[in-house]
Amino acid sequence: MAQQEDVFKKIVSHCKEYGFVFPSSDIYDGLGAVYDYGQNGVELKNNIKQYWWQSMVLLHENIVGIDAAIFMHPTTWKASGHVDAFNDPLIDNRDSKKRYRADVLIEDQLAKYEDKIQKEIEKAQKRFGDAFDEAQFRATNARVLENQEKFDALHKRYQEVMNAEGGIDLEGMKQIILDEGIVCPISGTRNWTDVRQFNLMFKTEMGSTADGASTIYLRPETAQGIFVNYLNVQKTGRMKLPFGIAQIGKAFRNEIVARQFIFRMREFEQMEMQFFIKPGTELDWFAKWKETRMKWHQNLGFGAENYRFHDHDKLAHYANAATDIEFHMPFGFKEVEGIHSRTNFDLSQHAKYSGKKIEYFDPETNESYTPYVIETSIGVDRMFLSIMCHSYEEQQLPDGQTRTVLHLPAALAPVKLAVFPLTKKDGMPEKAQEIINDLRFHFNCKYEEKDQIGKRYRRMDAIGCPYCVTVDQQTLEDNTVTLRDRDTMEQRRVAISELRGIIEDKVNITSLLKKLL
Ligand code: ATP
Repeated sequence: MAQQEDVFKKIVSHCKEYGFVFPSSDIYDGLGAVYDYGQNGVELKNNIKQYWWQSMVLLHENIVGIDAAIFMHPTTWKASGHVDAFNDPLIDNRDSKKRYRADVLIEDQLAKYEDKIQKEIEKAQKRFGDAFDEAQFRATNARVLENQEKFDALHKRYQEVMNAEGGIDLEGMKQIILDEGIVCPISGTRNWTDVRQFNLMFKTEMGSTADGASTIYLRPETAQGIFVNYLNVQKTGRMKLPFGIAQIGKAFRNEIVARQFIFRMREFEQMEMQFFIKPGTELDWFAKWKETRMKWHQNLGFGAENYRFHDHDKLAHYANAATDIEFHMPFGFKEVEGIHSRTNFDLSQHAKYSGKKIEYFDPETNESYTPYVIETSIGVDRMFLSIMCHSYEEQQLPDGQTRTVLHLPAALAPVKLAVFPLTKKDGMPEKAQEIINDLRFHFNCKYEEKDQIGKRYRRMDAIGCPYCVTVDQQTLEDNTVTLRDRDTMEQRRVAISELRGIIEDKVNITSLLKKLL
């Protein structure tokens, strides 16, 4: 674990050193849980967004996009339930003065029991080899049984407090924390305050005069911008059910505990798609979107074992199914995307609060009804982080040296091709520029002439550039260059005229999209 934390720290500093992610307002020592994307980060982020957008809007004839404003009429948030219920239960440790989410403390404790069980299983697996029967081991091993019992008991209590009549039972939550002996990781003490609810929305004022101004919110999710535009899009696009509306945009949450770099931010970006369907078909569509979205993730080639579904124990009162897609980060399996079956809750609420009829007339059955919705909601920044974590490697080379390399999927890499003149003379720089001038219309190229070739390769490895080309004396004679592959480090001689054909297919988003069909 300590080793994994070390790796994570290295990834964070790598992100800064190579222009991927900077702390916000860095010269003022940063702003809590707010980050800026640098020259390479913005390219990677844009490529992630493009991969998502095109997989939704380009590959589905019945999905269209919108771009709604961040500010929305304040009643939106009353209708959606965010004003009354978008809360997290918080608890403070009186000694360290640190603040925690009470639900997260309990979930971490559950994970500890699971970890202990897993460790026993792994140990036994090593001992017994092929003869190992996991089911039998789980049913008979004393230590596993003991931890499973603790897990089940805690899980049951947790469920009860989360689903208590009239909302979360805050006193019950505190009691669990005390009974489980959960300590503050900083002070190591159990000197906890009571658990309180805290609303996560940021407020501001719109309008200039004190009496004329009204309180508005920075949107905590992009989804509501889609719901309030349902009628506009359905009518103007003459959309027939089932159809989807996709959107990418900023969201803001005043998170209580902002940890783990860009995993939990106060300003972040979401890619959300609301899929409108006929009531009664929601569980089929839910299953279909689970599969479609998992395929989208696994298509990046990071290995199926690094993903899992985590079905929700606690469903929001309006939802009838919900799951998370979790990715194996250096700090454990964590949510990257949520898929929710939201029934007709949002549209009905907006109909109620706005007084407008928000329905769909079904020409096949001649009836009108409020559509149901399946939502897929993924955080761009969490996706970015998962890609960074999986791609980062400190590689031991056969000659004893090490290199830091980002094995980014070529289609997402910020720079696709770096072109180096071997030396700064004999017309090599001009030739290199000529190559770039020709290829820059097709993919992102970079020119580098400083330092030895070896160092230039390392710099490109560190930003995940999949290909480097070197222009040398021979190039001037026969128009061939050496093409070096980032992952294998192999070099081969190719004609300049072949470069585009070799590289373009691999580095364009289309290469990823084709594999989805
Ligand atoms: P969590 O339980 O981690 O707070 P959530 O269940 O509240 O997340 P959703 O409301 O379902 O998250 O939001 C959908 C997606 O938006 C999440 O899967 C995540 O990728 C992203 N997201 C949510 N909150 C944040 C945040 N504070 N920083 C970065 N990304 C976020």
